[in-house]
Amino acid sequence: MKNMGLSRLVLVDPMDFPSGEAVARASGATDILDAAQVVGTLEEALVGCSLVLGTSARDRRIPWPLLDPRECGVVACEQALGGAEVALVFGREYAGLTNEELQRCQFHVHIPSDPEFSSLNLAAAVQVLAYEVRMAWLAAHNQPTKTAKLETTAMLNAQAATADELESFYAHLELALVEIGFLDPAKPRHLMSRLRRLYGRSGISRLEMNILRGILTETVKAARGEHHRQGKSDV
Ligand code: SAH
Repeated sequence: MKNMGLSRLVLVDPMDFPSGEAVARASGATDILDAAQVVGTLEEALVGCSLVLGTSARDRRIPWPLLDPRECGVVACEQALGGAEVALVFGREYAGLTNEELQRCQFHVHIPSDPEFSSLNLAAAVQVLAYEVRMAWLAAHNQPTKTAKLETTAMLNAQAATADELESFYAHLELALVEIGFLDPAKPRHLMSRLRRLYGRSGISRLEMNILRGILTETVKAARGEHHRQGKSDV
């Protein structure tokens, strides 16, 4: 991370931390370890992040919007330069990320390794992606006009909903879908996963999310037969 100019490490429920072995392997880059934030769940790690990129060595049952490492570097850099919080999520060395964890990510990033032997060591995978972020960052800084353009795009997206806001939205959506009888909690199938994929892909803004939440609230009221005024929306 330090070689590539990255500094913010968040560890989710680490098995061994602080760790003598980690300090030894850091070869002097202990400032990153010292400043590492330790949290209990991925959800906590993602609070405030408006772009979440999850890495995976495997294909999943539900296909997700996929980026290659180069695209990942460009998108991550573009958003971060505009002040957005961007998270690159890596999995456990022995088991990767769970499907549930991957579904918290708007995009998946796959290093196009040989399908017969697709899984890199965690540190190697981190290095490939950190390098691509570095390359995108250098490209942006060597080309002022491009940087200016990237910053404008990022400013437009600055009000993107964050991971924690999206989680509350999904919880609200699920409740509403159960309430109106569209989602059977006994047989949820992949509905919520598919909806997460849809909304994740759309890069929803905070304003848009609030409109959808307003619609959900009124939908539930209507389903319960509560009085419903027409044209409540003021947007
Ligand atoms: N058996 C696990 C592999 C874990 S490798 C699995 O199938 O998911 C540890 C971590 O390194 C992964 O969780 C991912 O973050 C990263 N990684 C390994 N190979 C990768 C690849 N080809 N593309 C993207 N990330 C990869």
